[in-house]
Amino acid sequence: MCGIFGYIGKRQNAAKIVLEGLKLLEYRGYDSWGIAVKSGKRIKLEKHVGQIGDATTDLPKSGLGIGHTRWATHGGVTVENAHPHLDCTRKIALMHNGIIENFEEIKTELVKKGHKIISDVDTEVAVHLIEEYYKTSDFVTATLKAFRQFKGLNAIVVENCDTNEIIAAKNGSPLIIGKGKNEYFVASDASGIIKHTKTVFFLEDDQLAVISDELKILDIKSGKTVKPKFTKLNWEFEDTQKGNFKHYILKEIFEQPHVLENIALNYSDQTEKLAWLIQRSYGAYFLGCGSASYAALLGTYLFSKVANRHLNFSIGSEFNYLEGYLTEKSLLIPISQSGETIDVVEPVIKARLRGVKVAAITNVLGSTLYRNADFKILLNAGIEKAVVATKSFTAMISVLLLTAYALAGRTNEGRELLLKASENVSEILRDGFLKQIKDVAGMIKDQEHIYVLGRGLSYPVALETSLKIKETACVHAEGFAGGELKHGVIALVEKSTLCIVIAPNDETYNDIISNAQEVKARGALVLGIGPRKDKAFDLYLKTRDIKEATTIPQVVIAQLLAYNLALTRGIKDPDKPRNLAKSVTVK
Ligand code: GLU
Repeated sequence: MCGIFGYIGKRQNAAKIVLEGLKLLEYRGYDSWGIAVKSGKRIKLEKHVGQIGDATTDLPKSGLGIGHTRWATHGGVTVENAHPHLDCTRKIALMHNGIIENFEEIKTELVKKGHKIISDVDTEVAVHLIEEYYKTSDFVTATLKAFRQFKGLNAIVVENCDTNEIIAAKNGSPLIIGKGKNEYFVASDASGIIKHTKTVFFLEDDQLAVISDELKILDIKSGKTVKPKFTKLNWEFEDTQKGNFKHYILKEIFEQPHVLENIALNYSDQTEKLAWLIQRSYGAYFLGCGSASYAALLGTYLFSKVANRHLNFSIGSEFNYLEGYLTEKSLLIPISQSGETIDVVEPVIKARLRGVKVAAITNVLGSTLYRNADFKILLNAGIEKAVVATKSFTAMISVLLLTAYALAGRTNEGRELLLKASENVSEILRDGFLKQIKDVAGMIKDQEHIYVLGRGLSYPVALETSLKIKETACVHAEGFAGGELKHGVIALVEKSTLCIVIAPNDETYNDIISNAQEVKARGALVLGIGPRKDKAFDLYLKTRDIKEATTIPQVVIAQLLAYNLALTRGIKDPDKPRNLAKSVTVK
């Protein structure tokens, strides 16, 4: 969470470069923002509450600047708490991603020593601690000493007017360094950098980068120098832009046919390799958070149904309490769009220390999961900038479907299903169908509570549908297994309550239709999504019948429904839902 961007080089418009970088990274956090540039011997700073929008900057000319767009963990959303934070001399500015867990004790010591700490945020102690050590040692040593003292998972970026350098250090959240011509950039992810350069270095955990005319990397624990290995990014800047679409979420929904087709045509080798790893493991476990957790849960149903194979599944943040049964023969399959989700990354790193094999599924080349996996499948869905997952989710379930079919020795069948799913999604994205969805959204726009029912494969689809509605349209929605209806949720159904019924043409059909009848008997308004229309449905959105791949068009309909619901309910920016951020890098 939070977007970090820094610039050092020959150009003298650092503030503008940093501001543009922050605009590209704002999807990572957007409650407040700030920029600090070197101006003569002091830092000049501006900080604001709210989103960046079309902001411009009047900060003075400079070749050195850093900026941050925040997602608050400690301390309210105020100008004082926004980053960057300054030391007492106003020569050092620092910004941070993560949580300094021992900040209270560091603060007490610093205050005793006379430091003036003006904000409530954990971050501010970091810059004063560096200032304190800088009194008796050089700047790099001071930063190393301070960083070693922080508890928790953190990334910091510091600029110093005296030494004219940026220092970046991390042991958790991501940082990437871009190398241009006579200039360097540092950012939370590649989308901020790609406009300037494709040559990047992914800073590893426990590394510190000293960036001036040249780049020097140190190992934080030993203090020894490490040679940086640069990578070439495989995205184009244009891919990170909205183009003619009104919102990123819509653009990303529209990219799905292509993403699905790519997986159908080009992923047989990779998914067969993953199937082989699953086959020879003694226990394979999916891990994911949010939408990725629903993809993982869907994976367990797919493997059982298609390949008669049991796979375990856990939400990333819960795996810390479930990992006792891992052995060297276990296989962990973390799934994460960003590859940085801390609740997935942390258990993966721990498991690796115990010799567990890791096969990661992620969308981001060079991400922490990507780097820490023995085997990896890159989704190649292209950058996803809307906070809510769309194309990454359908890409994840496509890879899992193909892997399940590979494990069953029926790769070609899996590919055919995915190609049909891609075609069906293209049909959904045509004007006529889009209008149907828009009309349904108009009819349900005043609903305060929405319930989504599914069974079997459709249960995770119901969970994903409800999450899309919650995040995008800010309406309470709850997905649950149809069989659970009578164990509680039916108590909430009254006249006109909207119940969405995910009804594929599979073994769940009769039972889910019975559930639809049960809620209808209590006055519910029933929206059916699937290949077969039933008289229990008051509203209906049709998909093709493509066996397990029917889940894909069903999810796409849910995405579009949530998007249209958001618009009809007056949500201004469905790309940036309230209180959320794209890549969850703090616990
Ligand atoms: N803990 C810091 C804060 O609350 C950093 C949060 C972030 O990662 O954006 O400002």
